[in-house]
Amino acid sequence: MQAKIFFGSTEAVTDTFSERVSPYSGEVVSTAPICSAEDARKALKIAQEAKVATKASTLSQRCSWLIDVAQKLRLNKEDIAKTLTDEVGKPITFARVEVERCIETLKLSAETMRTMHGETINTDAMPSGKKTTAFFTREPVGVVVAITPFNFPLNLVAHKLAPALVAGNTVVLKPTPEAPLTAYKFAKLFIESEYAIKDALSVVYGDAEVGSALITSDIPRVISFTGSVPVGEIITKNAGIKKVGLELGGNAATYVEKSADLALAANRCALGAFVNSGQVCISLQRIYVEADIYDEFASLMAEETKKLVVGSPYDDDTFMGPLIDDEAASRAMGWVESAIEEGAVPLLPPHREGRMFHPCVMANVTDDMAIVCEEVFAPIVSLVKVDSFDDALPRMNNSPYGLQFSVFTNDLKLTQRAISELDAGGIVINDMPTLRFDIQPYGGVKLSGVGREGPRFAIEEMTEIKSVVIC
Ligand code: NAD
Repeated sequence: MQAKIFFGSTEAVTDTFSERVSPYSGEVVSTAPICSAEDARKALKIAQEAKVATKASTLSQRCSWLIDVAQKLRLNKEDIAKTLTDEVGKPITFARVEVERCIETLKLSAETMRTMHGETINTDAMPSGKKTTAFFTREPVGVVVAITPFNFPLNLVAHKLAPALVAGNTVVLKPTPEAPLTAYKFAKLFIESEYAIKDALSVVYGDAEVGSALITSDIPRVISFTGSVPVGEIITKNAGIKKVGLELGGNAATYVEKSADLALAANRCALGAFVNSGQVCISLQRIYVEADIYDEFASLMAEETKKLVVGSPYDDDTFMGPLIDDEAASRAMGWVESAIEEGAVPLLPPHREGRMFHPCVMANVTDDMAIVCEEVFAPIVSLVKVDSFDDALPRMNNSPYGLQFSVFTNDLKLTQRAISELDAGGIVINDMPTLRFDIQPYGGVKLSGVGREGPRFAIEEMTEIKSVVIC
């Protein structure tokens, strides 16, 4: 057996690989090439050499490139969705949604770049200035390194490749080792497109060794990383002088207040806590509920949770499939058991069969329990009874993370306070904090990261402003 990689537009094979087994069936579903640091350096060199041709290409060609990939993706939707389900166990219905989102991310990146440009500057606005022709342009940075996680192995790759390439950069992608075939099939659409720019995209695989070779090299000007805080810290320490965009972990919370539509809140909270088995950086983990409505909300939440179908990710009706691996499932169950020993009360009996982890709603929790203060990345949500927003606010903000928060309320003053006082990159009113529209700026504060994604904002990160004055 051999596994395929892309050194620029040239497909190569490697004899070193690991087998990727389905988190659901345990059967081998693909092979993950294991590249060396030398492979990473080779890919970077190819990307560096392709910079001139890429920068010289027209925006029209690059937009056509992304649109062509989007169209081919639609034609291959079922195959790519199935590959995603095979490799990471994502329920097929949600895998299809991810393909659709990816198509939109590609199209949006092309549409955005068509109208993103510099501005003229009035240099005679200052007493010391004078009339000139002054403006700034947006130039591609050159080489972008993109490193991506397992939980959205298609759309999060698109959020890096599409803005980087349409802005005129070359890219070396290192996708998650958990979904190598998903990344390969996606990259192949780029490389085989009739609008492709030769060698503008390379794909190397592996983990820390390859990642480290990519981030420490002097060739890339931007490292665009999505993944965990520990790896984000390694990248920050080792990247040297270059732009580093970090989309890291979270510990999303919501506040449910008595003026809210409680049925809607419970329905959306169950979705936000359990979609993708909680393996979402903005997965809802903490629900702070006003005391007056706590009992009613808790029973609605238990009812909504009972409706969720856990089972084969290949069934259209399945809402939740397996966790990514045994380690993730054991860690999550260990945290639930410790919380119960310390006095937490599960609203539904915790249940795990191997990697299949049923949705778990915990009450009577304390702020220091791991299920409350760590990023659980599993289908576990905690209910916390609070007196008021003043009681909830410091507890919501008391987290090293700050990705997204939400509030369910029909009180305008409370809405204004939530927007101003919750410390996160994104605030959602009257929906789950797990809501993301790909057109929005997206990213976190504190340990949740640095920089913003969403095509327009990623393009800003992946371009340099060049300031020009003609006197
Ligand atoms: P991870 O950090 O384990 O891996 C992410 C990527 O980093 C993988 O491609 C991995 O191979 C690579 N990597 C590992 N060691 C490296 C090193 N030393 N140098 C460079 N790259 C290295 O994350 P994961 O388990 O795949 O994903 C889950 C994490 O990602 C969670 O913490 C989640 O919150 C976060 N996440 C964040 C966002 C966001 O937008 N903020 C989105 C999705 C996931």
